[in-house]
Amino acid sequence: VSFGYREVDASEKAGMVRQVFSGVAGSYDLMNDAMSFGAHRLWKDQFVARVKPRAGEAILDMAGGTGDIAFRLAKAGAAVTVADINPEMLAVGQQRAGKRQLSGLLWSEQNAEALSFADRSFDAYTIAFGIRNVTFIDKALAEAHRVLNYGGRFFCLEFSTCVWPGFAEIYDAYSHRLVPKIGKALAKDEESYRYLIESIRRFPPMPEFERMIRAAGFAQTKVEPILGGLVAIHSGWKV
Ligand code: SAM
Repeated sequence: VSFGYREVDASEKAGMVRQVFSGVAGSYDLMNDAMSFGAHRLWKDQFVARVKPRAGEAILDMAGGTGDIAFRLAKAGAAVTVADINPEMLAVGQQRAGKRQLSGLLWSEQNAEALSFADRSFDAYTIAFGIRNVTFIDKALAEAHRVLNYGGRFFCLEFSTCVWPGFAEIYDAYSHRLVPKIGKALAKDEESYRYLIESIRRFPPMPEFERMIRAAGFAQTKVEPILGGLVAIHSGWKV
């Protein structure tokens, strides 16, 4: 399987991804603002508006990291479980929740490919900028389907492939030349940001990822491209 620019053994990837996020946890939120010029906040707002969280419903925010999506969902009154493979990212998230006086969130260390939750535990499943990091995307999608109730909704926010001519080239140059440098300057970690950029480049294009979601059993799948597909919201229903 691919890890950044190189191929690694499938059994190694999760550990290496864990290391990347342990390294960046402390500077993760600052870096998101720096690299996207703050735009990730708008994409996350748009994503949660699409989810339409309802008060009291159980939502699993997978690969929830430092809580950006979970906090937005919780504001609407949803009962949110934030799950992530990386305890350091979750710890930063818990600190941030404390500062915002948000209570009632559950934090859980989980691998998206093998969840410990019972079948049909959640009304909605969200995963933002997380799924491209898992080793076997189909396993994560199968688990998402398993833990959702009938009528449950699946939502994924992820970098994708921009189909606007011109813009894609500018973005490519920006991400490959500048992002690792910003990573070096702000987070003292060039390699991790190289991995992050390369993992974006290798992620399947929108129609292919939508097919994978359908293959996992989801119905009425949809793709909503943002900025020509630079970022995309994929969704589907468990029926
Ligand atoms: N959702 C948050 C956000 O939008 O700010 C965090 C996204 S961050 C780019 C990716 C997260 O995926 C990290 O916190 C990382 O630990 C987590 N992750 C990577 N591989 C995972 C896996 N196999 N299972 C669960 N979480 C994973």
